[in-house]
Amino acid sequence: MSLHIATPLLASTALPAKDGQESWLKMEALQPSGSFKLRGIGYACEEYRRRGARRFLSSSGGNAGIAAAHAGRKLGVPVLVVVPETASARARELIQREGADILVHGASFQEANAHALSLLGPQDAFIHPFDDPLLYEGHATMIDEVAQAGLRPDAVVLSVGGGGLLCGVVEGLRRNGMDEVPVIAVETVGADSYAQSLARGERIELPAIASVATSLGARRVSEAAFALASRHPVQPVVVTDADAVGACLRFMDDHRVVVEPACGASLALAYQRHPALAEFRRVLFIVCGGVTATVAQLHAWGAALR
Ligand SMILES: *Cc1c(COP(=O)(O)O)cnc(C)c1O
Repeated sequence: MSLHIATPLLASTALPAKDGQESWLKMEALQPSGSFKLRGIGYACEEYRRRGARRFLSSSGGNAGIAAAHAGRKLGVPVLVVVPETASARARELIQREGADILVHGASFQEANAHALSLLGPQDAFIHPFDDPLLYEGHATMIDEVAQAGLRPDAVVLSVGGGGLLCGVVEGLRRNGMDEVPVIAVETVGADSYAQSLARGERIELPAIASVATSLGARRVSEAAFALASRHPVQPVVVTDADAVGACLRFMDDHRVVVEPACGASLALAYQRHPALAEFRRVLFIVCGGVTATVAQLHAWGAALR
């Protein structure tokens, strides 16, 4: 028994597409924690418990912290999430609702993260939000399900923060004999650490995150995600915050599911009829989800960004 669920794979007639083009949606927004993160983090938490961990530590006030809290509750393992003072009331509430302890420390993620690491004892497991091969193993199960459903996409569209989802999806493609299937890796302007790194040929660090898609806000992508682009076809695409939020709002009407701008970034490619999709017949969108944005917040961003 895994902590994540097998999610629906939907053929969407609502998303705009070219004649003859099929849009498929892997509905990770429906995971019990509200995002795909539960696949990798649930898998990692089970493995760390097997290796003797008595507590899980996280420094994510977003979907990773919520997934760790959920996994700990299901496994009966205490969880401590260290978040900075900037963490929203909603994020804190979502973590507490999963029964985790929350410790507010420092003005930035960097400070909260450093404090979490300083608290790490011999029986604790640190649950990284994106940079751990165990996460890729878990995330890859979403592609196992796509393969089991008999779908062989011509391209996969997904969002990139630190690159854990990207590494997991490519692992899933490889272990299902789909090594050649290209991945379109989407970020927002201001959180585009991956696109900038590929363009420069080295892993750059953004000075700050300047996007409402906070779940894409890794200032530096993992080495694994960066290196992967030299052995798998990956095309980076960057969209605006307005496009990402607009896609969330349209997706609510089209599919009756609320997702964060981090996920809207990928969906924006369909709504924009982005040229990166033009050559593909079957396009698989990873609807990665995310629970930290409310409907009211999406509308407020939509109005402010117009
Ligand atoms: C974490 C997250 C991402 C980015 O995933 P990475 O593994 O960091 O690249 C995208 N969307 C949502 C909703 C997320 O929670």
